[in-house]
Amino acid sequence: MSGNTSSPFSLSTTTSTQPALNELISEAVGAIQEWSDGWGPYEAHPSTIVDGAGLRSALGEFTDRMSGNYPFGHPRYAGQMLKPPHPVAIAAYAAAMCVNPNNHALDGGPPTSEMEKEVIEDLADMLGFPAESLGHLTAGGTIANLEALWVAREEHPNQTIAFSADAHYTHGRMCGVLDVNPVVIPTDNHGRMRLEKLEEILAKQDVGTVVVTAGTTGLGTVDPIADVVDRCREAGVRVHVDAAYGGFFRLLANGDSESFDGFPARHFLAIEDAESVAIDPHKHGLQPYGCGAVLFRDPSVGRFYKHDSPYTYFTSDDLHLGEISLECSRAGAAAGALWTTLRALPLEPSDGLGAILAACMRAARTWADTIDASAAFELYTAPETDIVSYIPVPRESSLSALDAASRAVFDAAMNHEEEPVFLSLYRLSAERLSARFPHLTADREDAAILRSVLMKPEHETYAADIVDHLSTIARGVV
Ligand SMILES: *Cc1c(COP(=O)(O)O)cnc(C)c1O
Repeated sequence: MSGNTSSPFSLSTTTSTQPALNELISEAVGAIQEWSDGWGPYEAHPSTIVDGAGLRSALGEFTDRMSGNYPFGHPRYAGQMLKPPHPVAIAAYAAAMCVNPNNHALDGGPPTSEMEKEVIEDLADMLGFPAESLGHLTAGGTIANLEALWVAREEHPNQTIAFSADAHYTHGRMCGVLDVNPVVIPTDNHGRMRLEKLEEILAKQDVGTVVVTAGTTGLGTVDPIADVVDRCREAGVRVHVDAAYGGFFRLLANGDSESFDGFPARHFLAIEDAESVAIDPHKHGLQPYGCGAVLFRDPSVGRFYKHDSPYTYFTSDDLHLGEISLECSRAGAAAGALWTTLRALPLEPSDGLGAILAACMRAARTWADTIDASAAFELYTAPETDIVSYIPVPRESSLSALDAASRAVFDAAMNHEEEPVFLSLYRLSAERLSARFPHLTADREDAAILRSVLMKPEHETYAADIVDHLSTIARGVV
């Protein structure tokens, strides 16, 4: 389980056919250097020159401090939504950064602006949005959702925006930023929006837009998007899909997804009927942070972005991405890295990125099945995507015993001498916990459970062994 010398991030070892990261970086950066040299030699200013010892000392201090991280790329890191980007994304990003294009305006980076338009088309195609959809990359899901909610407010001023109790907290916060009244729709025990509650609210209140989540940040569950879209159509209400986490699972819905127990393919397919989508390539698209995206079905929403900047000179009539985004400067390198990644690992259901997502789905099912078979744990809810939620079986039948047990396993796993395992804690209300585990006395208002995001395909190989190892740890501390 440890000491894997052929990890995809290995710097000097070649993994079967894939070149090592060092090689990819040096080839890509080398090619950019060659282009750069073609403009003619010039001398670096002495003020920028630092001798090797000075640079190495700064970098040495930096890399020392970086060892304070948790091993996000390792299969035994099964905690939060964190993993390193694909090596091809790292190489493309590093190479692009040597030029440092700014995708705000075409002038700031013509090639990466073109690449951004192409990847937006690829994402639109994956999501079932029309080719003429308007979209662009963003710093992340927060900004993507902010733009979608802002357009929602502009389209339906004075109406509310509704989202579920399990939606990302950004929606409540952004309603505050936008001065829109939020409406929170209760969720079921799996964390999915309750349709009958939505219907009540649509009948009673003046809702302009409903936000549905395709893969909640907590439990990875999916709102009943197809049914929500139906109800909203009838009521003349817009639908925005927050697919920041789960959007790429739509690939599996495009293929033969029957083999994944509990995967709500129908609701992923219904994303195509929404007005807008936020999706984060920096979560499941193998990208470094700084890469989200927002797409609008109706390109005419571009009119809301109108601006008249004296600082920006646009050299052509072609669409400048800065004309349709709230952010100004944005890394062209982010678009370059995503574009390159999608050339190497295309958006196919059973190949490229699809094969990676399928492995994560199988990993979550293996993890859940092994939890189910273990006397030390119980599943909280079966995974719909690749996030598994579970509890250590507490010694005493109460929520305080559960809370203490979850924290004890979390700490003991992380501090295990030879083979640490990193999990995350997730807080649930007494109401939700009592509905699932009625024998646990509700002696607190909430309690922590365990949660594992299995977003690395390598989890597939190690899931069963890691859960067995966790069972041993749990028996020692609970
Ligand atoms: C991660 C996430 C966000 C926030 O996106 P950032 O990229 O972290 O800004 C919003 N919604 C959902 C469902 C998410 O998982």
